[in-house]
Amino acid sequence: MDVLERNGFRFDKGPSLFTLPYLVDELFTLCGEKAEDHFKYQQLKIITNYFWEDGISISTYADKHKTAKEIEKKLGAKQQDILTYLEHSDKIHKLTSSTFLEKSLHKTATWLTKDVVKTIASIGSLGLNDTLHSFNTKYFSEPKLIQLFDRYATYNGSNPYQTPGIMAVIPSLEYSQGAFFPNKGMRSIVDSLVSLAERQGVKFNCNSLIKEIIYDTQNKVTGVSVNNELIEADTVVSNMDVHPTFEKLLPNIATPKRILKQEPSSSALIFYWGINRKFSELDVHNILFSKDYKKEFDGLFESKKIFADPTIYIHISSKIKSDDAPENGENWFVMINVPSATPGTETIDIESTKKLIQQKINSILNTKIEEYIVCEEVLTPNDIETKTSSYAGALYGPSSNSKMAAFLRQPNFSNTIKGLYFCGGSVHPGGGIPLCLLSAKIATRLIPKA
Ligand SMILES: Cc1cc2nc3c(=O)[nH]c(=O)nc-3n(C[C@H](O)[C@H](O)[C@H](O)COP(=O)(O)OP(=O)(O)OC[C@H]3O[C@@H](n4cnc5c(N)ncnc54)[C@H](O)[C@@H]3O)c2cc1C
Repeated sequence: MDVLERNGFRFDKGPSLFTLPYLVDELFTLCGEKAEDHFKYQQLKIITNYFWEDGISISTYADKHKTAKEIEKKLGAKQQDILTYLEHSDKIHKLTSSTFLEKSLHKTATWLTKDVVKTIASIGSLGLNDTLHSFNTKYFSEPKLIQLFDRYATYNGSNPYQTPGIMAVIPSLEYSQGAFFPNKGMRSIVDSLVSLAERQGVKFNCNSLIKEIIYDTQNKVTGVSVNNELIEADTVVSNMDVHPTFEKLLPNIATPKRILKQEPSSSALIFYWGINRKFSELDVHNILFSKDYKKEFDGLFESKKIFADPTIYIHISSKIKSDDAPENGENWFVMINVPSATPGTETIDIESTKKLIQQKINSILNTKIEEYIVCEEVLTPNDIETKTSSYAGALYGPSSNSKMAAFLRQPNFSNTIKGLYFCGGSVHPGGGIPLCLLSAKIATRLIPKA
């Protein structure tokens, strides 16, 4: 959640979509403060504008009835089919969130609750035996609509042609709970939580790379090594990606095979462009769809090559936070999904990929975007890995491309080192801001009270 400032433009470099903001609010409540005194956000009326090469475009709205109406008008699907799909999405959320998102899957107590019995009883209706794509084709016949709902697999960096149909839960987050944007930008999520923690007496040591997690002969954590100094601790919670945590910080413990075998989620190539004009057809979140979604995902996860016609995501925070760009300008965050940078993956040819992206933007928006770019920065999978330690630059830790993925993620505690806990995007329950906050909540609850 870093920030970039150039020529009067401000960019949030990483996450751009904010869902389940109550998970941030409740941290203020826990500390006896009112979230709205420190951290304000607004709900987006238009969630996303979608564009296809044949000139069709639609907007999806916070109001699901309005969305269904728009889809019926533009894509010819029945309003009721869309509402039924979204009801099903809510149903999956209701049935699964307390088991799969709010508890450790690796503690016996989790499996002895009433909620779990209900979830298991309904497993047949959750789409576990379908892929998200095949699940969506049961609801819709219009290819553009299937593509629109297949896209939700990318919210955890997965492949709609492999990830299970239970991922149809993701639209529930947007259409029933809402998509939001913090008034001071995405970075203010971090800034407001840092200030909150400091008011509670938390001390941050920034720019202090942890070299090793230290434990005694009884395999009990004793601290961490930073700058050749031991910082003593009874409890260590790591939100560094668990893959390098094992490989680098625990050099004498074999990395669990389960972790080594997991396929990383997709990564991203991002161009941050300062643009010196406005585009009224665009909003905060915009998607320019690929003509062949299947081939795009084959490239991301099978051949590990960037597809010649990638889906393009354009995020423009200045649409809602006008001081993010000079007057008459816009701050464009232009992203395509690319394969994670596992060993052997081709290096990205940034200039030729940029040309592909610009040609597609020009064709769909009928413009010459290269003429309006006044400044540019680029972020590659290798940059993401270097800056955050995320293995192979994956955006969301391991992908969810198999039915067993949820069970194969690292638990929120270590089985071998007592006092060591894990949270963050590479462990249970998954990547993305809301799930990372939930992982922290689960890990915290597992730590014995002093
Ligand atoms: C480009 C991009 C776009 C995304 N878009 C969205 C989105 O729209 N919505 C959404 O919800 N999620 C999105 N995500 C995912 C989301 O950002 C991540 O899931 C989340 O930030 C992961 O949080 P984390 O705490 O696990 O890891 P991070 O946020 O990566 O934090 C890990 C921290 O640990 C530090 N660190 C690493 N190793 C060490 C060490 N040895 N010693 C000390 N410090 C160390 C790193 O510097 C970093 O600050 C996106 C991610 C990316 C990269």
